[in-house]
Parts: sequence; structure tokens; C-alpha cells
Amino acid sequence: MAKKIRYEDRNPEPMLTPQERVKTFREYAHGFSVSLALDEASRCLFCKDAEQRCIKGCPIGVDVPGFIKKIVEGDLIGAYKRIVESDPFPSICGRICPQERQCEGACILYYDTVRGKRNKGLPVSIGALEKFVGDFVRISGVRVEIERNRPTGKRVAVVGAGPAGLSCAYDLSRFGHEVHVYEALPKPGGVMSYGIPTARLDRSLIDWEVKRLQELGVKFFFGYVIGRTVSLRELLREYDAVFLGVGAGRGSLGIKGDNLKGVYSAIEVLMRVGLMNANSFPQSGTPINLGKRTAIIGGGFTAVDCAITALRLGVETHVVYRRTRDTSSARQEEWDHIEEEGAIIHWLTQPVEVLGDEQGQVIGLKCIRMELGEPDESGRPKPIPVKGSEHVIECDSVIFAIGQKANPIAYEDLPELELTRWGTVMVDESFQTSVMGLFAGGDAVNGGDTVVRALSEGRRAASFIHKYLMKEVES
Ligand SMILES: Cc1cc2nc3c(=O)[nH]c(=O)nc-3n(C[C@H](O)[C@H](O)[C@H](O)COP(=O)(O)OP(=O)(O)OC[C@H]3O[C@@H](n4cnc5c(N)ncnc54)[C@H](O)[C@@H]3O)c2cc1C
Ligand code: SF4
Repeated sequence: MAKKIRYEDRNPEPMLTPQERVKTFREYAHGFSVSLALDEASRCLFCKDAEQRCIKGCPIGVDVPGFIKKIVEGDLIGAYKRIVESDPFPSICGRICPQERQCEGACILYYDTVRGKRNKGLPVSIGALEKFVGDFVRISGVRVEIERNRPTGKRVAVVGAGPAGLSCAYDLSRFGHEVHVYEALPKPGGVMSYGIPTARLDRSLIDWEVKRLQELGVKFFFGYVIGRTVSLRELLREYDAVFLGVGAGRGSLGIKGDNLKGVYSAIEVLMRVGLMNANSFPQSGTPINLGKRTAIIGGGFTAVDCAITALRLGVETHVVYRRTRDTSSARQEEWDHIEEEGAIIHWLTQPVEVLGDEQGQVIGLKCIRMELGEPDESGRPKPIPVKGSEHVIECDSVIFAIGQKANPIAYEDLPELELTRWGTVMVDESFQTSVMGLFAGGDAVNGGDTVVRALSEGRRAASFIHKYLMKEVES
């Protein structure tokens, strides 16, 4: 008998209510139970042409029907092994990937990518299933051995312990090379550790993944700012190859009043809370003062994460974005979550000035309303100011959660390194830079995208570094 297609009855992931969520920095999405996971997995049609659908939609090419089939068969270790063939960190990606634009957006139940038309159902909950499998292995304590080649005698330095650096280190170590990771901060994880709030990603997951890397033989050196503590040139002299995964810096709007007291960069707020526990000041020793009301400028992941943080600090939270929700790069469900938690979102609103009092303290954000015009160079309709629509959002602090820029500290003293006109590191298709033996990937190259893209670039770079090193061995 043909399998009944379950278009609509997607299982929602159990989570705290909005009232409970705003009271805690702990993770609010609890993940599938075994029975929910089995039921959700059984919605998959195991499409023969999944390569053209969900697998193609995944930036790191996870064999989606392959791992879901293993869940249905009750073989969770097999499911885990199937995922890590492509994605080394299932628990992390299952939590923070924008799946509705990736694998789930290309699931046949929701969208027929082959015919190019919307289908009538809701996609299989691929992200929650991936998280379920990753969490099962992590929590159960089952050891899944990772094969490692014999030592090659080659040494590689990885600069930056964000997702790009970690995935690159993971594969290089499996290939048999000696890998040393240099990280400026006291902890690994990059943005996953200092940017994304613990409410979305518990830090113990990053620690667990890093422990696996250490078991593989990867050595970490924290508090090493390459370009300051040690130069990149020295690393290039000392190692057979170097991978640069230093991420991107953050921008500013450059509007009047952006240096007033109470103006923060998103990363400052997120780091104070996520890395230095400012939410438990004075016990933590790091304060944060957003006042009673804050206005967050931006419409991507960073803006949403600032809103999650501000709401949990008990602050009235406004998010100001000059475009519309459907053009935002953040996950749609996260906009739903922060709205449920009380955030006030001002779509199509452009900030023009931060207003201050005589003491130089923020008292408001002057904005103008926008309307959508013809598409701009990004292909999205260009927001155009509506004459006479200026207004003020009263607030005690303003958080800039916009734009990416280059983070050049590591390579400032290497003038022979070619950069793009945006200041990002230029690489060829094998992630090789203009400097022999120096490779790069992740946000430092793509200018700022997603964790899974950084993971994918780190892994692909590792395989080219391996080829580069082994050519030397063979010749
Ligand atoms: C607030 C925020 C929320 C986000 N949320 C999501 C999300 O939910 N889902 C998603 O897919 N993507 C999200 N993103 C994007 C994603 O986090 C990035 O694309 C990804 O982390 C890039 O990885 P990376 O390894 O290239 O860089 P990073 O994660 O930035 O890591 C770079 C590392 O290099 C270190 N470093 C920098 N300079 C030096 C130096 N000179 N010496 C030594 N070490 C150095 C840094 O300290 C850092 O640890 C978010 C981004 C931000 C800012
Ligand atoms: S497209 Fe959807 S239904 Fe088909 S294999 Fe992928 S997840 Fe399963």
C-alpha cells in the first residue's frame, strides 16, 4: 500500500511559554522526545531525488533521508555517523541553522524544487531531528570513534576557534596532521560562544565538541591574538600551512549621536552577557546597563539575539529595521519568539539620529518611515524614505546590530596578502590566499554568513590544505 503523505501534521518542538522564556537565559527549546522524533521521522518520503531537494538545500550537504531512515530503523548511532560524514556538529546546527531557507525550505512536502512550485504541506522538521540525534549521542555518553590517519609529520596552525577554524582543525587532525589552534579569546566557539545567546545555544555543547577535537589530538592556545601576541609571518615560518578563520568585525551606521552614553555595539552587549555573565552582576563583576528601554538597530541574527538578551534583562525592547521581515536574514521563528516575548518591532523604519540630553545620555532614537521601491543591487526592493514621517522612539540605550566589516588584526602586517575591496581575505577555489601556505575561510572570506557555511568552508579548506601538504610529502 502506498505511504500516506502527511503534509500538515509537522510536530512542533516542545518549548517554554513566552512568559517562562523571558525569565531565563537557559535554552527554551527542549527538543524532541524519542516518540516525537520517530513520528516526525516517519513523515519523510525518502525521496529518490533528495540530492535535488533537501540535500541540495543544506550548505554542507547532509544526507537528510539517509540519517532520517536510520532514526526510523531505531539506529541513532548510525544516524549520527551519517550526519557527521558531512556536518561535524549536529547538535549545534540542529539548533541554530536557518533551516527554513536551507534543507527544510527545499523539502518536497513544502516546496517542489524540481518543478519550482509551492506544495501544500509543512516540511519535515529536519533541524529538530538533527538536534535530537546529536543530543542523543552527547547525552547518552556513547563513544563514536572518529578514524584518524597515521601521523604525517606535518604541522598546521589554525587562527580562530570559530566554526570555520574548528571544522578545519577537525578534518586536518583526522588526516593525520598536527594541529594547533590559536584563539584570541579565553574560550573556543567564536560567535557561537560570545554572540549567540545561551537561550538558543547552551555553551556545554561547544565544550563537548571541543573536547572531541582535543581527543583527536588538536591543541588549543587561548589568549593568543595573532598580529599582536605572535605575528602571522612567524606562524607561516613555523608551520607547514596556516588556516585563517578570524571571522568578521561589526559595522556602525555612522549617524549623528552614535557616540553618546548608552550607545552600544551588539557584540559588546552579547559578549558582556554571553561571555562575562553580566546578567548576574554584581556576582559576575561585569555590569550592563541598558536602562528601561532599548532600541536595537538591525534586522539579522545579531539584532534578534540582542532582543533575546535585552528581554531577559527585563528591558522594554524595540527593534528598528529599515526593510521587511521577509528580507531579514534571521530565522522567521525567532522573530515570532521575540514578538511573543514582548519585543516591539518597527519594520520599514530607518534610524537617522541618536538623541541625547545635556549630559550626553541617550534619550531617544529619531527615525523615518520607509516604503519599498524598485529592487536595489542586492535584488531586494529598495527602501525609500517617506517624506514627513520622522518620529522618535524614546529609549535609554541604543544597540547597533548592523553590518559586517573586515577584522584585519591578524593580517595587518602581511601587505602581500590580497584583500577584496570590502577588506575580506581573497582566496581561490581551493581557499588558498595570495600567500603561499596560507589558506582562509568562513566570515573572514565570505564577509559574514552562517555557521554552517563557515563549517563547510573550514572542511573544504582542510581537504585542500591536506592535498597541498601531501604533494610536498610525495615530491
Ligand atoms: C550575534 C550573531 C548571531 C548569529 N546567529 C547565527 C545563527 O543563529 N545561525 C547561523 O547560522 N549563523 C549565525 N550568525 C553568523 C555566524 O555566527 C557566523 O557566520 C559564523 O560564526 C562565522 O564563523 P567563523 O569561524 O568564520 O568566525 P567567528 O565565529 O567570528 O570566529 C572567529 C574566531 O577568530 C578569533 N579571532 C579573531 N581575530 C583573531 C586573531 N587576530 N587572533 C586569534 N584569534 C582571532 C575570534 O575571537 C573568534 O573566536 C550569527 C552572527 C552573529 C554576530
Ligand atoms: S525532501 Fe523532505 S520528504 Fe523528501 S527526503 Fe528530503 S526531508 Fe524527506
